[in-house]
Amino acid sequence: MDENIINQIREKAKELLSSGTVECVIGYEAGTDGMTSRPAFIYEASDVERLVFDNTCTHNLATYLINKKTNKVAVVVKPCDARGINVLLSERQIEREKVYVIGIVCQGVVPVSWSGSGKDLQMRCKLCNQHAPVIYDFLIGEPAVEPVPTVSPWTSVAEMESKSSAEKTDYWNKQFSKCIRCYACRQVCMGCYCKECFVELLDPEWVGIKIDTSENSMWNMIRAFHLSGRCIGCGECARVCPVDIPLGLLNMKLAKEVAEHFEYRAGLSAEVRAPLATFNKEENLGIGE
Ligand code: SF4
Ligand code: SF4
Ligand code: SF4
Repeated sequence: MDENIINQIREKAKELLSSGTVECVIGYEAGTDGMTSRPAFIYEASDVERLVFDNTCTHNLATYLINKKTNKVAVVVKPCDARGINVLLSERQIEREKVYVIGIVCQGVVPVSWSGSGKDLQMRCKLCNQHAPVIYDFLIGEPAVEPVPTVSPWTSVAEMESKSSAEKTDYWNKQFSKCIRCYACRQVCMGCYCKECFVELLDPEWVGIKIDTSENSMWNMIRAFHLSGRCIGCGECARVCPVDIPLGLLNMKLAKEVAEHFEYRAGLSAEVRAPLATFNKEENLGIGE
């Protein structure tokens, strides 16, 4: 743990709560397993000593800003999570005046699971080229000049792209056949905030209630498309999947396509909306002609 970072988080949280600037500070606290951290919701200045920060702080706390009933909250964010705030701002899901962003210059997080945490950095952190948040009100840490990446950010999808269509179909069918449709991937995602999710609609019924490979594939593919150009690659959906479906691989492929076709990366700005989340009435899609 970096005591300097923790002290700064606690001091800022205390100041914001004591002055009434915010009603709640969303940050991290030590988990009950004694090894990892978990999200914490601090409402009293006397509770700020609970706040911690270490390399197990993998959760994307931007998720908890959606539908928050309080007037104004502060949230501790890593740089990738900060891009999630920009996505929510651009999609008018949160108001800038109601969110105080405590941004942290980040050196990466390790894999975290029920059984504890790993030692090596997560893949996304190894490929990360943005260790300072793009949006913040208070910054903790010194932004350094980013090292020039030595590997492509799309390294993780290269192997899958090299496979034949039949091999890809076989691979994903095997993965999706494991899905138990628990929807943990959706619940943890800052971009999955629809009040009515397509998977629960009966009219039209996009996905049948039957749990089999075909219906599961439909669920996972449509969700991935809904997140295309909006997913900020926090990796939370894959982390919480109880059957270890590599959802990050799917998300990364779509992020790559959006980057190559639209030169767009999700969450770099609150002013620009995701290419696939917008359309002009004048657009001619060639449907029904
Ligand atoms: S992806 Fe980058 S910003 Fe996000 S946790 Fe890893 S190193 Fe930090
Ligand atoms: S978390 Fe995994 S098992 Fe649950 S719905 Fe998502 S893909 Fe399926
Ligand atoms: S789809 Fe997964 S990786 Fe992307 S923002 Fe949602 S939880 Fe994070």
